[in-house]
Amino acid sequence: RKRNPGQPEFCQAVQEVSEDIFDFIEDKEAYHSQQILRRIAEPDRIISFRVCWEDDAGNIRVQRGWRVQNNNAIGPYKGGIRFHPSVTESVLKFLAFEQTFKNALTGLPMGGGKGGANFNPKGKSDREVMRFCQSFMTELYRHVGADVDVPAGDIGVGAREIGYMFGQYKRITNQFTGVLTGKGLEYGGSLIRPEATGYGATYFLQNMLATRGRDLTGLNAVISGSGNVATHAAEKVTQLGGKVLTLSDSAGFIHDPDGIDLEKIDWVKHHKTHTRGRISDYVAQYPRASFTAGKTPWGVPCDVALPCATQNELLGDDARALVANGCFAVSEGANMPTDLAGVHVFKDARILFAPGKAANAGGVAVSGLEMSQNSERRSWKEAELQQLLLDIMAGIHESCLRYGRVSDDYVDYVKGANIAGFKKVADAMLAYGVV
Ligand code: NDP
Repeated sequence: RKRNPGQPEFCQAVQEVSEDIFDFIEDKEAYHSQQILRRIAEPDRIISFRVCWEDDAGNIRVQRGWRVQNNNAIGPYKGGIRFHPSVTESVLKFLAFEQTFKNALTGLPMGGGKGGANFNPKGKSDREVMRFCQSFMTELYRHVGADVDVPAGDIGVGAREIGYMFGQYKRITNQFTGVLTGKGLEYGGSLIRPEATGYGATYFLQNMLATRGRDLTGLNAVISGSGNVATHAAEKVTQLGGKVLTLSDSAGFIHDPDGIDLEKIDWVKHHKTHTRGRISDYVAQYPRASFTAGKTPWGVPCDVALPCATQNELLGDDARALVANGCFAVSEGANMPTDLAGVHVFKDARILFAPGKAANAGGVAVSGLEMSQNSERRSWKEAELQQLLLDIMAGIHESCLRYGRVSDDYVDYVKGANIAGFKKVADAMLAYGVV
């Protein structure tokens, strides 16, 4: 904390990982003497830059952009770009740190990075968003590249923003390379990339349930968020026989006692992506549902929960409420949605709890497959990609079991994911010597 003053999210992420890694490295001299954990917790570099753009009224606006290149021991830096007013250097450092372990867990050759800006796309016209994205890429282009650093989408950055940024990169460099993932299918994108994070988090949940002889059939699910990850998690939970009761956004949550079926999920997707509307509008469309302003959905009784909105949206008290109401499995679609107090509640209750770095790795995994397709200059078939996603999520689950099994009937998935991700990156760093 002394080393990173004013960066609570980053310190929180490093603390969580360190708690697990200390035990593991205790008797492993090389990791100690080579200061591997300290080196991973110091980004390779942080680029911070001005993003200047003109709004529709002709005002000049000045925002701050960043790219945090955390670690490229096992592959080019890889991680999303976030546009949200809550973006700070601390948030991006925590995300880049987590991304390093997550990418290692996928088994694909990708290092960890993250970027973004404190820009709020909400309420902006398409042309304003385009001008912002072009200005952002006008600086970022010199720091990224298909073999250097390959950004993707994240909160506030979807297909529209990726299209504007890729177009600007291509214009400046005169190169058509796989420098961004999450691209449109017409220009190098991969099938199932939009679905991959939410589907992957649900597959991970399924793998965890199977260890207790269960599946999703007939289970009630509480989901937060209503963006890319949340809607696709809701879709897969429903397809696998579960009933989704809630969705949310930063203004509050909706609770639909009839279940948010596939038709309703399609309505939400369209409403959020095309109309750019709010989740509260759901109630006018489906009057049996209710909207609760300013609250998260964790008080709604459920069997399983998937936090899919943002960091620190599920606190200690929320975790206690979930457990008290009978929730026995949590799969994090978002990055670090559960705070440290909440994580300890889940661990103490010995419920099935998958941290984001394991459960939401399906998105970056398919991004890695998009990079491979771009390098080969061909597109793989949907069935092939679906199978790879299933296999990769099962592989991550296996890694968590290997390093996280505490007893015959309990697996600490947080510990398992931290150790498995750390070991791969750390061993590569050891091979390089002191660099
Ligand atoms: P979207 O922008 O598509 O959706 C984000 C959702 O979270 C929206 O419903 C948004 O509501 C809500 N949200 C954002 N910030 C807050 C906040 N401060 N408080 C409450 N709600 C908030 O993003 P994604 O679905 O892509 O990302 C969601 C999470 O998943 C993030 O943690 C992201 O890092 C993580 N993730 C995403 C991946 C991907 O492939 N997209 C891959 C791996 C992880 P509102 O509209 O009101 O802001």
